[in-house]
Order: sequence, then C-alpha cells, then structure tokens
Amino acid sequence: MHYLDHAATTPVPRAVADRMYEILTEQYGNPSAQYPMGRDAAALVESCRGVIAAALGCKVDSLVFTSCGTESNNWAIRSAAWHGRHTGKHIITTAVEHSAVLEPLKALAQEGYEVTYLKPDSRGNITAGQVFESLREDTVLVSMMLVNNETGCVFPVEDVARGLRERKSRALLHCDAVQGFLKVPCAPAAWGVDLMSLSAHKIGGPKGIGALYVNPSLKNLRPLLFGGGQERGLRSGTEATAQIAGFAKAVELRMEHLPEKLARMAAIKSYCLDKLLTVPGMERVSDGAAPHILCLSLPGYPSANIVNDLGEQGICISAGSACHKGRASHVITAMGLPKRTAAGVIRISFGPETTREDIDALYEALKKHQANRFPML
Ligand code: PLP
Repeated sequence: MHYLDHAATTPVPRAVADRMYEILTEQYGNPSAQYPMGRDAAALVESCRGVIAAALGCKVDSLVFTSCGTESNNWAIRSAAWHGRHTGKHIITTAVEHSAVLEPLKALAQEGYEVTYLKPDSRGNITAGQVFESLREDTVLVSMMLVNNETGCVFPVEDVARGLRERKSRALLHCDAVQGFLKVPCAPAAWGVDLMSLSAHKIGGPKGIGALYVNPSLKNLRPLLFGGGQERGLRSGTEATAQIAGFAKAVELRMEHLPEKLARMAAIKSYCLDKLLTVPGMERVSDGAAPHILCLSLPGYPSANIVNDLGEQGICISAGSACHKGRASHVITAMGLPKRTAAGVIRISFGPETTREDIDALYEALKKHQANRFPML
C-alpha cells in the first residue's frame, strides 16, 4: 500500500499508540477525582497541554482541548459572533475554507449575519489586502485558514493580524490551522491571532482530539459546553486523557528534527511534481508552498475515476478534500479553472515517512490509468 493522503489523515506511530494504551489501561483516573490517581490524571492533562503550547509558542492556559478541528472551528465562529454582538453582524472569510468553517458561517447567515467570501486567484492565493478592502466598522470576525487543505496555499494570517491591529478593528481573527500546524510557521500569540483551531490526526495523533487556542486578552469567551466545569469552565466533559496524551506524544515526535522532516517532505513534493509532470497532459493547478500538499490535474481524466482506479492498485490519493465524497470541490470551483482541468484535479499529500518508491508507484499507476482509459472531451 502506498499512502499519499496525509492531508486527509495520518498514520499513528507505534509510540503514540503505546502511550495511549498505557493511559487507557493503567493511568485511567478521572482528572476531576480527588485521590492521587485522579490528581495524576489532571497533572498529565496539564503537562500535555504544556507540550502543545510550547510547540505553538503560547501560554499553557491559552489552549482548550476539544474533540476535533471541526469542533474548534464551530466554537470559535459562534463565540466570535457572540463576542461582537454589540458591534455588528458582518463577517469576512475566504471562499476556500474547509466546510467546518463554511457551514457554521452559513448557519450564521441564516440568522442574519452578512458574510463576505474572498475569492482566490486562479492559483488559489488570497492577499491580506483583500481582507482590508472588505473590512467594515461592523465586521466582528475575520476567519482565514493558514494552509488550504486542497491546494497547499499558505495564507497571510500574520499580515492580516497586523493589519487589523493597525486599523484598530474590533473584529476578532480566527485561523483554522488544522493543515498548517507543524507544517509551516504557526505562532498565534506572536502574530496576535485571537482564536486558532488545531487537530491531532493531521500530525500523527489520534482522531477525536483537537484544541482551540484562545488569546489570553480575549476575556469572556462563551463556553461551548456547560456541565462539570472542566477546561476552565469553557468546555465541560471528562477530559479524553488517552487522546490528549496521544496528541501530545505526536507533537513531541513531530518536533524531533522538525526542520529535517519538513525539508524531506518538500524534497519528496518536488520529486513528485517533476515526475508527474512527465505524464502527458498533467498540469500543476496551484503553487501552494505547504511542504505536504501537491495539487495537480490530468484534464480529460475525471478525478473520481483516477482515485478509484489507483485505490484498486493500493495507492491512496484524493480528488480534493476527503470531506467532499465525490462532490465538485468548492475550492477548485472558486479558482475558476477551465471545466476540463477542474474535473481532473487530484491532491497528493505527504508525510515524513513518504518515500520515492511511493511516488514511483503512483507514477506507474497513473500511466496505467491513462493507457486504459479514453480521455473525455
Ligand atoms: N480544517 C481543515 C483545513 C481540515 O483540513 C480539516 C480536516 O480535513 C478540518 C478542519 C477538520 O478537522 P477534524 O477532522 O479534526 O474535524
């Protein structure tokens, strides 16, 4: 099997699974319990929070654990709208956000909010200037992702944060950093981002655990879940200790020799690009700088057929976001590509363990696909 879909999810290293097993079977105390086993569990949660906060360069108590990136995005958007309820009802985002941002915004639009969707250029890029041109007195939220999950484009979140400050805007800045964390520079505290969403399963952690960074200057964040008062009363519910420990262990492992890992991923991406561009008709769709995502198109060969055919040959790639399940991608649509190019878009995404052999197998499989299918007009 050649797994080339790391933007969808990643394999969990043995050390992460072992750590989770240990927590589940031996250190299973409830962090709210008063006896030593409970206190140990509470200390474990705090030390894990510290590991992730250090990787993000923020204060430990700026991080709240959630169940996934989707939850973090939903919470950030809802709470930002509530925070700005006396300021206005205008929100700025990009047309290429993940559905975990677009759908909660759609729900807010149904409740009377006006949402401005910034359009990318034909390569998938969006500028900070576009945000400022749309900024208004009544803008309460700007939500911009760090790395686009389909194109690998890196968005100018730091510049947007600075520009909002310079303009003395009251809008909060939320960043979906699910694809950016530990792949490109990501420093919410230094940049002055208000809210940032993370997810463990994109970096070798388990599914079912995420986090929301909350700028300490942001007082009175609206709690997500009311109940036992866990997570400083912001998100009640017994802490998912094994998942949290798995998240922290995955971060620790990724942080070891991180620059070398990112350089290796970038080198594999470049090898893959050079090799696949020799497949007749293959086009590069975006020049996104993230080291782990490559977006190409084979016009005339519908991507769903490519993905299915390659899957039969043991090669996992994606036709865009794994969340679209065959529907036309809103990201590719927003880029305004010619129909034939848009229909043939494939996403290949890499991890630190991806090898040249994986890429060679992908190349052979694509050649086979092309030889066995007539191109569509
Ligand atoms: N945001 C982006 C950019 C993503 O790529 C994903 C996952 O594909 C999510 C959010 C959702 O994260 P999760 O799967 O943890 O809910």
